[in-house]
Amino acid sequence: MVEMRNVNKWYGEFHVLKDINMKVNKGERIVICGPSGSGKSTTIRCINRLEEHQQGEIIVAGTPLTNDVKNIESIRREVGMVFQHFNLFPHLTVLENCCLAPIWVRKKPRKEAMAVAMHYLERVKIPDQANKYPGQLSGGQQQRVAIARSLCMNPEVMLFDEPTSALDPEMIKEVLDTMIELAEDGMTMLCVTHEMGFAKTVANRVIFMDGGQVVEENEPNEFFNNPQSERTQLFLSQIL
Ligand code: ADP
Ligand code: MG
Repeated sequence: MVEMRNVNKWYGEFHVLKDINMKVNKGERIVICGPSGSGKSTTIRCINRLEEHQQGEIIVAGTPLTNDVKNIESIRREVGMVFQHFNLFPHLTVLENCCLAPIWVRKKPRKEAMAVAMHYLERVKIPDQANKYPGQLSGGQQQRVAIARSLCMNPEVMLFDEPTSALDPEMIKEVLDTMIELAEDGMTMLCVTHEMGFAKTVANRVIFMDGGQVVEENEPNEFFNNPQSERTQLFLSQIL
């Protein structure tokens, strides 16, 4: 679904991603963890060209990412993204947030877009909030709307960038439960998260990044019980 080959990126002089190699196969659930500033967000933002890399190759669903606008658009169609701050449009209702891209980008008839949106709002268990505005919802509900909105575009792979970090503790579980259900339905997922419980139970592979590099990668059992690098050991000792 996603392949990164020797991806390098600089912000000005700062070498933020150093030879990133990563392969995400269909149906995999991968967790990326690592200290703040290690390049996790930059890595996943490169996948749908929210950030541009300077060297190496990124291939999404068989299509190599280039500077061509049509190519970027077609890749974005395959990739859903959920951010730490839900990024919903505050002046649109929940339902309108979910229908916007299907209507304007996919050219779906309004009625059909609304039916699809309601289907996914039911899946994230908030169909009753459809006509409210984001500001009237709790953080956990807003994040579930953001997940439903992504699903309305029928993506091949979902990227999550710390989807629970901005939430109050009591709301983290409802968002994680939504993500677990998505995983159980077979969605290909690449998740940056500090929720190590989620990593242990849902991920089939954990990737540890530090200093712009992939330091270590393993299946969760090995990763948590037998971390190889000192940097991974230090990180795990600080968060577990
Ligand atoms: P993480 O998500 O692991 O916390 P990021 O990918 O956000 O890390 O950032 C990696 C590094 O790149 C950090 O040192 C950060 O300060 C820097 N950085 C992130 N975005 C920019 C930017 N737009 N311009 C310059 N530096 C940036
Ligand atoms: Mg980040």
